[in-house]
Amino acid sequence: MDFKPLSLPPVITGIVRIVQHHGGRIFLVGGPVRDLLLNRVCPDWDIAIDLGEYQTRARLEDKLRHLLRQFCQKFNARFVFHPHFLTATLTLPEQQIDICHTREETYPRPALLPLVKPAPLERDLFRRDFTMNAIALELTARGTGALIDPCNGQQDIKLRLVRIIHPQSFIDDPTRIFRAIRFAVRLDYEIESGTLYLMRAAIKNGYPALLTPERILYEIRCILKERTALKMLEALIKEKVLQSAWQWQPSPEILSRLQLLQNQGADLPDLFAYLLASFPVTEKFSLTREERETRQALANFNAVKRKLRLAKRPSTIYHLLKNLPDRALRIAALIEPDTAIREKITYYLANLKNRPALVTASDLLRIGIKPGRKLGTILQKLFALQLDRTSYAGIRTTRKTKTRSVPERTAAGSSNEDEIRKELLGIARRLTRQKEKN
Ligand code: ATP
Ligand code: MG
Repeated sequence: MDFKPLSLPPVITGIVRIVQHHGGRIFLVGGPVRDLLLNRVCPDWDIAIDLGEYQTRARLEDKLRHLLRQFCQKFNARFVFHPHFLTATLTLPEQQIDICHTREETYPRPALLPLVKPAPLERDLFRRDFTMNAIALELTARGTGALIDPCNGQQDIKLRLVRIIHPQSFIDDPTRIFRAIRFAVRLDYEIESGTLYLMRAAIKNGYPALLTPERILYEIRCILKERTALKMLEALIKEKVLQSAWQWQPSPEILSRLQLLQNQGADLPDLFAYLLASFPVTEKFSLTREERETRQALANFNAVKRKLRLAKRPSTIYHLLKNLPDRALRIAALIEPDTAIREKITYYLANLKNRPALVTASDLLRIGIKPGRKLGTILQKLFALQLDRTSYAGIRTTRKTKTRSVPERTAAGSSNEDEIRKELLGIARRLTRQKEKN
């Protein structure tokens, strides 16, 4: 197969020179070679280095560290090195480069992370996921510019096939099931028939369930970054991959809801949060606090909705929604079919959420209310009164639609805020006097 002459960015040529100086070989491998052959823009540079040191692990790790330090000095970069996996990430001001030492892998048990041993490039290519991702291009002078393709990846690219390299592949690492679907949909390829057979057998035999939730979530996050994410999810559901992993039966409307969200401009974290809300999440799921809270809020939103439907006052809307994360509310508003509820949520986000209180704690202290719980309760009461009195006429029922519409700003609106503030302070005084009598 032909590809356009390679123009390497200066940082890669610099790295090549340093590796060459140390007598090593360096290859472009995996995604970038595949994308080069497909004339597709390659998002990242994956490179493999072979220092020829396969026997003494400690010496190899030292040599790699030394090289990484040299790269960093030259390019003002930082690196993170994972000696266990012989991989490193080089972070430059404007890009990240994934570097690995050529290696072979053994899987102690299905779905566990592999044990890694340095090995020459040819063996490294055989440990990869699919033939199209097992092609290398040597960048050091020893290379002839020809592709190293022991698994016939170029032929599968021509045939538009996703093909595994050995029959144990999906059992060793069931994340490859997710990857096979991702690449097939992304490139509009078929999954080769033998590969499909083995993939379905691995799914049927429950291998995805051996993966930690973290690894599955990583794959789902990767899918959601793709342009054709929803098609990928559809294929994942059709092939029952998540059912095998988590006994997760998606509700029939989940894909159309996700589509709706996407059409309305939802971002990736929104889509992820919406999906999460329907997953059987446990404590084992590695989620950020925001993801967990958003998920929780969305999963329990039906109960809030029932109350929101009946809510007439801005203060009630405020009270119902104030503890829910913004992302959950945005998502709920985007997919909510009931106009009145949708309007109440958007109204809360736009008008209530950040409304400053007209009467503050220091106002109450100044009129002699003692610090403590009572003061807090009074403040809350006053704020609720403020929301219901200032600027809004309350919720009206429009005859035409028979739905409750959001409160509207009245003409008197914010102009009488001073008066309302005075009124609220008066109420505060009365409330304290009453409490004192009691
Ligand atoms: P993308 O365009 O999505 O980055 P990629 O092929 O570069 O695609 P990466 O996830 O960046 O995919 O991985 C880089 C390379 O590492 C792959 O091309 C493949 O050769 C190898 N690889 C990644 N994940 C696996 C896996 N689970 N099993 C075997 N090889 C893998
Ligand atoms: Mg990549």
